Amino acid sequence: MNTEIIADNGVVGAGGAGFPTHVKLSGSGDVVVINAAECEPLLHKDKELIRSYADRLVCGLAASMQLIGAKRGIVGVKRKYADVIDKLRLELASGMEVVTLDDTYPAGDELVLIYETLGRVVPPGGLPISVGAVVLNVETVFNISAAIEGKPVTEKYISISGSVNYPCTVCVPVGSSYADVIAAAGGVTVSDPAFVVGGAMMGYVEHDLSKPITKTTGGIIVLPQNHFVVQRKLWNWTKVVRVGRSACDQCSFCTELCPRNLLGHPIEPHRAMRSLGFSESAKSDVQGTQFCSECNLCSYCSCPEGLDPRNVCAENKRRILAELREGAPRWANPPFRKERSSQHFKNRRMPTERLIKKIGLANYINKAPLKEGILNINRVVIPLKQHIGAPATPIVKQGSKITKGDLIATKKESVLGANIHASISGKITNIANDTITIEKES
Ligand code: SF4
Ligand code: SF4
Repeated sequence: MNTEIIADNGVVGAGGAGFPTHVKLSGSGDVVVINAAECEPLLHKDKELIRSYADRLVCGLAASMQLIGAKRGIVGVKRKYADVIDKLRLELASGMEVVTLDDTYPAGDELVLIYETLGRVVPPGGLPISVGAVVLNVETVFNISAAIEGKPVTEKYISISGSVNYPCTVCVPVGSSYADVIAAAGGVTVSDPAFVVGGAMMGYVEHDLSKPITKTTGGIIVLPQNHFVVQRKLWNWTKVVRVGRSACDQCSFCTELCPRNLLGHPIEPHRAMRSLGFSESAKSDVQGTQFCSECNLCSYCSCPEGLDPRNVCAENKRRILAELREGAPRWANPPFRKERSSQHFKNRRMPTERLIKKIGLANYINKAPLKEGILNINRVVIPLKQHIGAPATPIVKQGSKITKGDLIATKKESVLGANIHASISGKITNIANDTITIEKES
């Protein structure tokens, strides 16, 4: 067993930005942590996958442990999902354990999860491997398990929730459209729907339902246009700055409840807000913002004035990262108050139930049962870049016939990237705009 089989089958992180998994598993560590916290309100695909296929998760975990030389494998699951925990415990092999988590947000933040499951704190700007851990998303581990059997990534599991007739989790070919997926949930139930992709807290509003599902799309929540979550996601920078300058009273609740601050990282969103008020260029300039996870807790929950410290931090973070790419020096030895983690971490976590009420999602069905089978789709548009790194290079021609699972685009040699495979059988009808279109033949 080596990482080549994972690279060949196009496995990338299924729950985040799509970091190529073969690279993540090419280092060495003492523990693999599976992130089954799934803390975004109304999204349930990871739990659904474990309920149905716990054995496959364990197979992928064992392979991942072997690859990085780890003796321990941990699955972090919220305590309240007792049936999921029971299913897992029936399958776990030697060296593996379930660690139960409180029902808080953001339990699935990689650094929070490492602290909760291992008691280790990743330093500011560090990676999990710096404390010996590799963290993998549930669906990524399923895809590792499939890769071992020679099956490439051709499908994606998606939860569809909110204002739809039948909230559910479906398995769809990569490249299906958002519209296909929403139809699988029985369509929308409101006359003015807005589509939040990726989660109510960290996702974004998508207006174009012809956009394709990729290897990293996690969920779609349909909400009315005037819903709090939708309206907040539509604030532009001018509004963020205007209300931030005029109404921030420096109460610092945003900082006191910030999960990264609670881990001892030097992020203080209230200071970022304060600097906004003194900046003529409407920019904040606080170095600690680069450690923001963009969880949105400060903006949607902590701030009593309803301001947007998250976007101030995120904007500042983007600017700092761009400057680093241009060659600016790194912040050497950022302050790290590790001892703070144990002081306040437990009693300042945000209960998910309270969060759900606060952001106006309490009246929606908070379940998304898995539908059997793979959605039957006639046309897919597969992006060549669904991952961190360089886009894949097409190796097929327009007009050629293709079978599901065939390699259609390859990662460049010695460059970070991922292979792409056909998600349905049919004919290549278009290769353009960094996508490959496949249509089934009648
Ligand atoms: S979004 Fe807010 S609460 Fe979350 S890490 Fe960033 S500053 Fe902290
Ligand atoms: S919680 Fe809101 S009002 Fe208080 S410091 Fe933070 S941004 Fe300002």
